[in-house]
Amino acid sequence: MPVLITKRTQEGGAVSQEPQSIAPWASSAARARIAEVAAGLTDLSLDGVTATVRRALGEHARRFDQEGIVLYAGTNVMSEAAQRAGGPLVASRPSMGWPGEKYQTGLDSLDLLEVLAPTLVGRLVGARFAEVRSQSATLANLAVYSAFAQPGDTIAVLPQRAGGHTSHHAVGAPGVRGLRVVDLPYDIDAFDVDLAALPGFLELECPRLVVIGASLLLFPHRVAAIREITEAAGALLVYDASHMAGLVAAGRFQRPLAEGAQVLTFSTYKSFGGPPGGVIATNDAALAERASTAVFPGLTANYDAGRLAPLAVTAAEILQDGGAYADRCMANARALAAALHDEGFTVAGVDRGFTESHHVAVDAHLLGGGQAAAAGLAAAGIYLSAVGLPWQREEEPARDRGLRIGTQEVTRRGFGPDDVRQTAVWMADVLLRDADPEPIRKAAAALRAGIS
Ligand SMILES: *Cc1c(COP(=O)(O)O)cnc(C)c1O
Repeated sequence: MPVLITKRTQEGGAVSQEPQSIAPWASSAARARIAEVAAGLTDLSLDGVTATVRRALGEHARRFDQEGIVLYAGTNVMSEAAQRAGGPLVASRPSMGWPGEKYQTGLDSLDLLEVLAPTLVGRLVGARFAEVRSQSATLANLAVYSAFAQPGDTIAVLPQRAGGHTSHHAVGAPGVRGLRVVDLPYDIDAFDVDLAALPGFLELECPRLVVIGASLLLFPHRVAAIREITEAAGALLVYDASHMAGLVAAGRFQRPLAEGAQVLTFSTYKSFGGPPGGVIATNDAALAERASTAVFPGLTANYDAGRLAPLAVTAAEILQDGGAYADRCMANARALAAALHDEGFTVAGVDRGFTESHHVAVDAHLLGGGQAAAAGLAAAGIYLSAVGLPWQREEEPARDRGLRIGTQEVTRRGFGPDDVRQTAVWMADVLLRDADPEPIRKAAAALRAGIS
C-alpha cells in the first residue's frame, strides 16, 4: 500500500491526497525496489517504526557484518577501541568555530578532540596542516575546488574508467562548483597518468587543478614526475587518497605529500578504518588557510565533534601499529589476486604482480560485466562492487567492466592468506563453475564464525 501524504490544495481549506513517491526520476530498477519496500511499510506508528528499524539493522548486522565476506573496497569496520570512543550524543551538540573562539559556550572539553584529531591525522600523512571537519571526502574535495578554482575554471581528473571518482567529475562536486572537467590522458600499461602526453594536454586545457588518486589504485602514481609537469603548467596538484589513506598513514604504498602533491584529501572510513569523514591535508600554510576556510565557514557551520573521538583513536592505533595492519592488507591482496588468477580469472596487473596496494581488480568482461558478477557473488554472501577498468571502451554495454576488491575489511576481521585463498575458490565456484550460491553462503558464514 503506498504511503499517503495529505496536501493542501491552492484554494486552502480542502485537502487532497496524492501517493507519496521517493524518486520517480530514478531508474526502473530503483523504482521497482523502492515500491517493493514501500509496500511493506504499513505501520508508521512509533512502535511500528521502532520495530521496523530494529529488524532492518538486525538483519543487516547478521547478513553483512557477521556472516558476510565483505570485499567491498570502500568500507571498513572500526576497531573495538574506536567504536567505544564514539560519542553519538555529541553529534547533536553544535560546535562552531575554532577552540577559543567558539560561538557556543560550555564546549571547552571538546576542544581536546578538535586539537587531538588533526594533530594525529596530520602526523600520519606527513602534513603540517590537517582539516578534519568535513563530513565526507566528497565535501573535502568540494572545499578544495571552492578554495582553488572559480566557476568556469577547468580541472583535470582521472577518467571514470581509470578510477576517477564521482566527486572528481562534472556529475558530482565540480559540477556543483560550476567547473569544467576534463579527463587526464591515461597510460593503460603504466596504470597511471600518461606522462608523455601530460605537458601538451595541460598547455591546451589550462586546468587550475590536477586531481589524481583513484577509486581503484593498484600501483602508486608517479607523483614526483607528475608534479614537475603540473608545476610547469601552473596547476595545483591534488591527490585524493580516499582509498589509500590507511596505507599512506602507515607509511606504505606512497607518501603523496612528500613526493610532491600539494594537497591531499581522503575519506577516513575506508582503509583508514575510522568513522565517516573527510580530510584535507597540506604542508603549505596559505593553501591550508584557504582550504580550511572553505570547510568552515564555507561548507559547514556546526560540525560533529563526536566523530573526532573515534578518528583520534583510529589514528593513534595506526601510529602504534607501525604498519602491521597495512602490511597484512597488502599481503592478503597479493594472495587473493594470485589465487583468483590460478582459478582462471583475468586479474589486472598480472605482469606487475597484480597489486602494490590492498586493491585487486578482476576483468569481468566475459562474466557479464562487473555489476552482474557482483550480484552473483552477493547471493553467496561475498560482497563487492563493479569498477571501470582503464581498457574499457566507451561503447561497451556493461557500464563497469571490472570487479573491485579491497582486503581492508576482511583483514580487520582476521582473515589471513589461507582464508582469502578459500574465498577465491568460492568466487570461482560461483562465477566460473556455476555453483549453487546458497551452500557457499553458509560455508562463508561458517568461515567468518570460525575466525572472529
Ligand atoms: C570514496 C571516494 C570518495 C568519497 O568519499 P566519501 O567520504 O564517501 O565522500 C572520494 N574520492 C575517492 C577517490 C573515493 O574513492
